[in-house]
This record gives sequence, C-alpha cells and structure tokens, in this order.
Amino acid sequence: MLAAKGLETVADLLYYAPFRYEDRSNVKPIAQLAPGEKAAVLARVASAKMSGFRRRAVGLFEVIFKDEGTGTLLARWFHGERYADSLLPDTRVALFGKVELDKTSGHRLMIQPEVEILSGGDDADETLHSGRIVAVYEAAAKVSTRIFRTLLDRILKEIDLPEDPLPASVRMRIELPSLAEAIAETHCPSPGTDIRLLNEFRTPAQTRLIFDEFFWLECGLALKKNKARLAEGISFAVTERAREQIKQMLPFKPTGAQRRVVQEIVDDMKRPHPMNRLLQGDVGSGKTIVAAQAAVLAIENGFQVAVLAPTEILAAQHYTYFKRLLEKLDYVVGFLVGSSGPREKQQVKKLVTEGFVHMVVGTHAIIQDDVSFSKLGLAIIDEQHRFGVSQRLDLMKKGNQPDVLVMSATPIPRTLALTVYGDLDISVIDEMPPGRKPIRTKHVPDSMVEGVYSFVGQEIAAGRQAYVVYPIVEETETSADIKAAEKMFLHLSEKVFPKVRVGLLHGRLSAGAKEAMMREFQSGEVKILVATTVIEVGVDVPNASVMVIEQAERFGLAQIHQLRGRVGRGAQQSYCVLVTSKLGDVARERIRTLVESNDGFYIAEMDMRLRGPGEFFGTRQSGVPGLRFANLLRDTEILEQARAEAQRLIEEKPGDELRAVVTYIQENWQRRYGLVQVG
Ligand code: ADP
Ligand code: MG
Repeated sequence: MLAAKGLETVADLLYYAPFRYEDRSNVKPIAQLAPGEKAAVLARVASAKMSGFRRRAVGLFEVIFKDEGTGTLLARWFHGERYADSLLPDTRVALFGKVELDKTSGHRLMIQPEVEILSGGDDADETLHSGRIVAVYEAAAKVSTRIFRTLLDRILKEIDLPEDPLPASVRMRIELPSLAEAIAETHCPSPGTDIRLLNEFRTPAQTRLIFDEFFWLECGLALKKNKARLAEGISFAVTERAREQIKQMLPFKPTGAQRRVVQEIVDDMKRPHPMNRLLQGDVGSGKTIVAAQAAVLAIENGFQVAVLAPTEILAAQHYTYFKRLLEKLDYVVGFLVGSSGPREKQQVKKLVTEGFVHMVVGTHAIIQDDVSFSKLGLAIIDEQHRFGVSQRLDLMKKGNQPDVLVMSATPIPRTLALTVYGDLDISVIDEMPPGRKPIRTKHVPDSMVEGVYSFVGQEIAAGRQAYVVYPIVEETETSADIKAAEKMFLHLSEKVFPKVRVGLLHGRLSAGAKEAMMREFQSGEVKILVATTVIEVGVDVPNASVMVIEQAERFGLAQIHQLRGRVGRGAQQSYCVLVTSKLGDVARERIRTLVESNDGFYIAEMDMRLRGPGEFFGTRQSGVPGLRFANLLRDTEILEQARAEAQRLIEEKPGDELRAVVTYIQENWQRRYGLVQVG
C-alpha cells in the first residue's frame, strides 16, 4: 500500500514531505469560542443530517457537535457526502476552522472545517494532532494524514537518526540545522514556529532538507561528469588543413555566438577525454552549422561522425543539409532510417563498417545492434529531449569513447538544465543570424478565422508559403484528431483555396508519404501545408512566411514557440497567427506571453511556471529527479548554493570526505535519483 507511493523504508517515511502546516495551538472548549477566531475543538457528533438539494449535487451536510457539557457547535459542509458515512452520532472528532455565528439558530458555526476522526477515547493521543502546529500529509491509499503523523512521531521518538552525512566543511558554511533536527522540526515543528514561513517552506529546518536534496543530486551529477571527463577519449588535432576545410565549407559568416560555441566545442574535442556537451539555442539560431564544423574536425582526424535525429523527416533534412555542405569537401555522407529499403540499408551499413562513409545521418536505426562503425569519433544528437539517456549510451558504445554533442532547440530554464543535464557541459547560442526580422505574432478568436485565411491568400499571391497547424502531439494522434485535420484540409483545399495546392501531413502517414509531402512543400509546389505537430522540430523551409496555429490554447508555450520557429527563416517578414476559442484567464496569459515575446528562454521559463517542471517535458521525459522537499520553481537560490557547494567539494577532493560522500550517495540517493554509477 505504501510501497506504491515509494514508501518502503523508514528513511522513505522520514523523507515523506508534508505539503502544508496548520496551526492548531489554539484548542478551546466550544463555549469559549469567539466569532472570527481560528481554533481547534475536540467534540462528539450529536446529530447529523444530509439536507436539501442532493439531487442537484450540492449535498449540504450539517452536523451538530457537543463537547463535555460546554456547548454546541454547528458545522456545515457542501458536497458533504464523503463525511456522511463517518460522522455518525457519538463519533469523536477534532475540528479546525474559523468560528462564525449562525444567525438563525444562534449557535456557533464552522463552515467547511478541517475534520479528523479521533480513534479511541484516549486524549493523550490528541496532543499529537492538536494543541500545536501540525504537518499535513497527502494521504496515500488508506493511510491518512493522521496515520502519517502518528507513524512519524513514533519513528522520531524511537529511532536514533543517522549521523549527519553532510561534510563538516559544508555544514559550517551553510549554517543550517543538523539533519536530525531538520527532520524532526519539519515533521513536528516546535511551538512558536512561524506558520507562514513553514507554509512557504522557508524555515531553517526545511531549507536544510531542500538543500540536501539538491546537494546530493548535484554531487552525484558532478561525480558522474568527473568520471566521464577523466575517461580516456579521443584527442582531435586542429590542423591547418582542418581549418582550411572548415573555412571552405562555411556558406556564410558565423555569428559571434556561433564562433564562441564552436571554440568551446573544439576545446573539448582537443582534450584526450570524451566530450559531453549540450548545445542549446533557440530555433533558427544556427546550431546545425556549428555541428558541421565539429564534424569536419572529426573527419579530418580520420574519424566517422554519426548524426541522430528523432524523426525521419528531420533526419532527411539533416542529410540534405550536411550533404550539401560536406560534399563540397569530398566527404561521403550516408543516410540510414527505419524505412530505408533492405538492400539500401545493407549497402549503407556495409559502407559504414568498412569506413567509406564519413558521416551517417539517420534515426534510431543507427543505434541498432547490426550497425557497426569502422571508427566513430563524434556523435551528434539532435533534439535530445526526445531520446532517453540510454540511447545516448547506446550510441557511445558504437565507438571507443566518442565525443558527444547533443543539440536542443528547446530552451531549458537554467534550474532544470542544472538538474536534468547537470552531467553535461552546456553551450548556448544566444544570438540570431543577421538579417532576421522578428516574427510578428497575433492572437485571433476563431470566429474571425476567415480574415486569417484571406491574409494567408495574400501571402501566397506574393509568392510565399504557409503552414496551418493542428497542435496534436505525434505520438498521441487519435483518429478523431486526424479526422479534424483531414476535415480542415478538405475545407481549405476545396472551399477556401480551390486554386492553390494544399498538402496534408500527419503522423499516421507512412514515412515515405510524409517525406514526399515535405519535399513537395520544400520545393514550393505545395503552397499550404496543413499539418499536425509532426513538423514541430527542425523543419526548414525559408520561403514559408505564415504559421497559423489552430486551437492554440491546447498546447504548451514552448511547443508553440517551436512551431512558430518554422517560419521567419528567410529574409521576408513572417507571421504567426494563434487562433483560439474563448479563453480563461490563464490561457489568455499564456497566449499573451507568446504574442509579446520571441525569446525562447523567457517563454520556456513562463511555460515551466505555468505548467510545472514535470509537465514541461511532457510524459516522455522522466529526467526531473524525484525531489520531495525541493521545488525547482521556488528553490532556485538554494539550488545554486547547493550546486556551488557540491562542485567545490568534488573539485577540491578532500580524500576521505569525498569517499564518504560517494558511499553515502550510493547507499541513499542512487535509487531515488536514478543516477547510474556515481562511484
Ligand atoms: P537551428 O537548428 O538552430 O534551429 P539552423 O541550423 O537550422 O537552426 O539554422 C537556421 C537557418 O539559418 C539555416 O537556414 C541556416 O543556414 C541559417 N544560418 C545559420 N547561421 C547563419 C549565419 N551565421 N548567417 C546566416 N545564416 C545562417
Ligand atoms: Mg535544427
């Protein structure tokens, strides 16, 4: 029962975080309750009735309580059905709430009070649940907050908490209570503790527990990073010829940001240890050409390069892009995806194994068992959040400690990057290539969509192309969603734009059909592409100038920002139109963020705030580790502090202290954080 909540050991219980606190110090006999005050009362049910509008599902439940001869208290719960079975006459309860006066009966009244059923007739037990500040826990199956409180009280009284594992040097600097004190105070706050601080998770005790979670996580990540960094890897040489080749390949002058990150990458590649670097940059910031430069360096050193993309469309696009760049230098570029024909696959694999192919671009087909490289030196992984860490490892196994460059166009708020990608070095391209006009974004209610279509018509007449997107996630496309997109497609192609070629792209099409459609759009034969979010990442058609997003309220900010990045890739002014139905306040706020900002990092931060860090990555990402006390949004400062302390400890390597840390993490945190092999 508790195991399902991940509560298997006493330690798990000690780290089961309360989610709020209540001040129940003010326990009073009913007769002494003053209207307006918040108080706790111990009483028995005298009578109870479910009244009124049950059929209309209001279910007003009214109970009269009495305590040892002092008085009568009325309590009312709306939707009170759930109490009706347990608050039978004579049941003993504790009530907490604000006292009012019932005008009709003259009784004291509590509306929707907190209620806890008391067990036996034993009042001693009650000192645990009232008369003090209590922690409130989320119930797990049949285990109520009271049971958690009782369990924790018993554990704290009977068990000696382990010695404080935090290295003394760290403890001195952060000036927080010991672990034992922090745990005890968090579950059973001392009288007089500031209830407001408690509920903001800002007491020294709580801060200590939050700090711990971040600290051990960051230690684990730093150890992992260190280990990888010290492993033996390839040291690429930056030769004069490599420089010349890169210069010859570049079709334009790199931006300052591109030059800076290339330097960071090259510095890593020169080192005799494997590179593990994340290259972040907003859509259109020009990550691909940066990766291409790293590729040339690897190839000039006699190594092969693998480029891994999340979808076949993207793989095909990368293939075209890299081929155009690299064939100028007489390198051979191969293509390998799941839907390649058997003979073609055979052929490419053979050439890769024999070392004739300098670069192979593809999907996860590249990491299948039967693909072997002659000499893999650099793995470039695009749009990494779609891949698991294990796939990163699979690809690394194909070579002898190759360098790894992960590219992500999803700007990740710094706090998340520090936890999820804490074992990677991070490079950020924070500057757009010159000559780009910022995309203009507009919000239009769906009742006015005709005006949007006539605008699309004008752009097409001016020689541009447009996307009309249904924001449906590829993996969850249902028949109904596909039908909606198909219907839209028919409507647009037959009624609205009868003279224009309109195409349809969705996840249920075969890979071949998808690719054919993308080619037709890329070549400009198809003017309007009706699509689901299969076009979300990386697709590059510079002539497209309008992105219409239907039902924009259905999706995350970061995702819409990604979609929007499909336009604005050429020199002309581009537009994004967000079409929505009627919006609530939060949805309006979200749409406004998109209309007002083109900054991917800002939008990502807002998205994370509005949806929470777990949702931010969607279900595919389990990278956010199991934090219990800590909260990535609330606790950024503590995270930065913990990270600094962790790095200091790992880098200064004070022998024994470090060994103790490794053992402690292995024993206590590896399972929780899913850290692979820290020691
Ligand atoms: P990302 O992968 O970061 O979304 P791309 O690498 O696809 O972006 O680059 C977007 C477009 O900008 C491409 O057409 C690319 O050729 C072009 N580009 C990249 N860097 C520059 C630059 N420094 N100057 C001009 N154009 C650039
Ligand atoms: Mg890209």
